[in-house]
Amino acid sequence: MIQAMMTKPGEIIFREVDVPAVGPDQIKVKMKRIGVCGSDVHVYHGKHPFTSYPVVQGHEVSAEVVEVGENVTGFKPGDKVTIQPQVVCGKCYPCTHGLYNDCEVLKVMGFQTTGMASEYFVTEAAKALKLPDSISWDHGSMIEPLAVGVHAVRRYGDIKDKNVLVLGGGTIGNLVAQTAKAMGASKVLISEISEYRLEVAKKAGIETVNPFKKELKEAIHEFFGPDGADVIFECVGASETMNQAIEYARKGSHIIVVGVFEGLVNMNAALIQDHELTVAGTAMYRVEDFIKAIELTEAGLIEFDSLITNHVPFKEYQRAYQIIDEQKDKAMKVIIVMDEE
Ligand SMILES: [Zn+2]
Ligand SMILES: [Zn+2]
Repeated sequence: MIQAMMTKPGEIIFREVDVPAVGPDQIKVKMKRIGVCGSDVHVYHGKHPFTSYPVVQGHEVSAEVVEVGENVTGFKPGDKVTIQPQVVCGKCYPCTHGLYNDCEVLKVMGFQTTGMASEYFVTEAAKALKLPDSISWDHGSMIEPLAVGVHAVRRYGDIKDKNVLVLGGGTIGNLVAQTAKAMGASKVLISEISEYRLEVAKKAGIETVNPFKKELKEAIHEFFGPDGADVIFECVGASETMNQAIEYARKGSHIIVVGVFEGLVNMNAALIQDHELTVAGTAMYRVEDFIKAIELTEAGLIEFDSLITNHVPFKEYQRAYQIIDEQKDKAMKVIIVMDEE
């Protein structure tokens, strides 16, 4: 089979490798779609702090089961699946306390261990989740980023009837906002400086503000009323937005840090203390978040199509990154098409 391998930043080669044998608890899948995300772009540019080369990418996938191991009961050939890309130890404190996404020696496929950018992939059946037929291959590959949104929202708690401000309207910010809405939030507002991404948010039925055009503090009070938001999701990973979150959070409210930061942030920690803010991080997801993501998608509560801006055939993998570099904010989710079906 053909596998795409990034040999160094900016270079992807295709090589012929054997399809691994299927172990008793494993399944073999034929890849259909692979989404490219911001973390992949960091790897492409040689700026991912925890990835070395060569690396096989691919962690947002939809695939079809083609073979199952002798002990596998939950899957059969022809099933549509997505795959959780975390490889965890099962022994450390987080792993033994139900928090395996925080595994002390977490490896993620496509970063610290082999990703799924190959025609076929063999994985533990336990990492696969069945997708209903109503979910397309494209949307199936969006379940992983949606699970990030579900986990982020759950890190806050019960979002029902809450006022939600999302800073950043990229794919993850958009999906956090859509998840909050789908899970019953009262009002959801995205703050984003790209007019293109504001339009995409509007297509998903999310209210928006461009803080370059309207003072964010004013927009918050206008939209939510004088009490502002109950929770602010920082989905950019920049000191400006982190400081906006701290500054505009209502006293005693919550900030969930979703964005991935490069380097240190100079922030007004005094406000966290004095305003009694609860600041929580969120890292990837667990299986229950995938299940919820599939459920929300099946119920038609998530609008993916305006987020999917480009398709690239497998053989032109590298073009995905050229598109992202050239089109910047207008390239949101670029999907690698592994199989035209
Ligand atoms: Zn990703
Ligand atoms: Zn562990």
